[in-house]
Amino acid sequence: MKDYVASLMNQVRAKNPAEPEFHQAVQEVADSVVLVLERHPEYRAAKILERIIEPERVVLFRVPWVDDQGDVQINRGFRIEMNSAIGPYKGGLRFHPSVTLGILKFLAFEQVFKNSLTTLPMGGGKGGSDFDPKGKSDHEVMRFCQSFMSELQRHIGPNTDVPAGDIGVGGREIGFLFGQYKKLRNEFTGVLTGKGLNWGGSLIRPEATGYGAVYFAAEMLGTRGETLQDKICLVSGSGNVAQYTTEKLLELGAKVVTLSDSSGYIYDPEGISREKLEYVMRLKNVQRARIYEYCEKFKSAKYTETSPDQPFNPLWNHEAQCAFPSATQNEINDRDAKNLLDNGVYVVSEGANMPTTPEGVHLFLEKKILYGPGKAANAGGVAVSGLEMAQNSMRYSWTREEVDNRLHLIMKSIHAACVRTAERFGSPGNYVAGANIAGFLKVADAMLDQGIV
Ligand code: NAP
Repeated sequence: MKDYVASLMNQVRAKNPAEPEFHQAVQEVADSVVLVLERHPEYRAAKILERIIEPERVVLFRVPWVDDQGDVQINRGFRIEMNSAIGPYKGGLRFHPSVTLGILKFLAFEQVFKNSLTTLPMGGGKGGSDFDPKGKSDHEVMRFCQSFMSELQRHIGPNTDVPAGDIGVGGREIGFLFGQYKKLRNEFTGVLTGKGLNWGGSLIRPEATGYGAVYFAAEMLGTRGETLQDKICLVSGSGNVAQYTTEKLLELGAKVVTLSDSSGYIYDPEGISREKLEYVMRLKNVQRARIYEYCEKFKSAKYTETSPDQPFNPLWNHEAQCAFPSATQNEINDRDAKNLLDNGVYVVSEGANMPTTPEGVHLFLEKKILYGPGKAANAGGVAVSGLEMAQNSMRYSWTREEVDNRLHLIMKSIHAACVRTAERFGSPGNYVAGANIAGFLKVADAMLDQGIV
């Protein structure tokens, strides 16, 4: 079976050159499901794994727009419709200069298993653009979003493909995208999630990914009879996921000492209080400024510049018990993982997608810490997106408590499925194996039922 995976990976690399993140995501799932394929020859006969790694459809398009100086700008738009075996394609849009086909394919692939774990009927997709919203005026962002949606609208729909936000796509961008869809299609439907509250959005959607990652950590700690009370936590990023991770950690009595952006990080040994978090939310969501300004306002904190060329990220080199990577992929390498372990971290709950390199994951698994991989730990966001779709279909909205309770129950059920499945397949305590196998089985069975399509 090892030969089978090696030969599959050779084909993946040959067929998808220059897409290292996609190779990395496929390798992890393939390694996890080897035992499943051994026990279930019917999956191999139907070439489920070979089919699941091939997108059902990829759309790549030109996005021309005019900047405030009157100059023409051209970006590239993408939508990866990866798998619709268990529901309409569902997954976010990312606007960031680092976006490539390979990055979005890895994200769409991860999304298939994550959505399957949520217990809701959602297939997997992802999309975005190499457009950089940073430093652009609201009008420039609007013109870009309108041009992007002018093409995307013909490929999506409430029963076909329902995008949401991701890095660089928040409430402002979803608003502009929705407005253009409605104008072109002349219909008001739940075609996007993460919408504003007074036009079809769900309460708790902005909070869901961060809250969910914290609920997942609490569940993992619960297996050892512990809670988050008084735990020192390292959080990276300062966007949507990082902000609401911090909010929920504060609520549960933990102390958050770091936040970051792509320029550097702040370390505040006194902890980020509610007031300080409110300042960060204004700084990032309204002023769209940089995290170093935190240190100009709060003297207890220290700012350190970082760069992706450094051999390690000093953010992960502080004494703590828990880490919540909430910025981007591969932000924890093997050196960072070692630093975390040496500093006493024994809980890692991934708000970001694939934030740990394979070498880092290997170290966490070897040391048997409580390691919740992104496709399980950050599934709360898409779960509440699924609840937003359900509310839109009913033309009804649930209360904050109702949505939060459902989110909490979903995170508990994802945790239980990971634990149960890992045990069933001989890797107790291994949430990577548990998440990959549980996510795979539901999609694989649906694919078997639906024939060779
Ligand atoms: P966001 O609001 O745009 O915030 C992203 C944060 O990460 C910002 O602080 C950003 O800093 C930082 N960042 C982005 N790219 C970076 C890079 N290459 N190096 C270092 N820092 C970087 O995005 P988000 O929604 O919080 O998403 C964060 C992560 O969570 C992503 O991996 C995303 O895929 C994952 N996720 C999000 C959701 C969701 O519901 N939003 C759901 C599941 C998973 P700058 O401001 O300097 O760019």
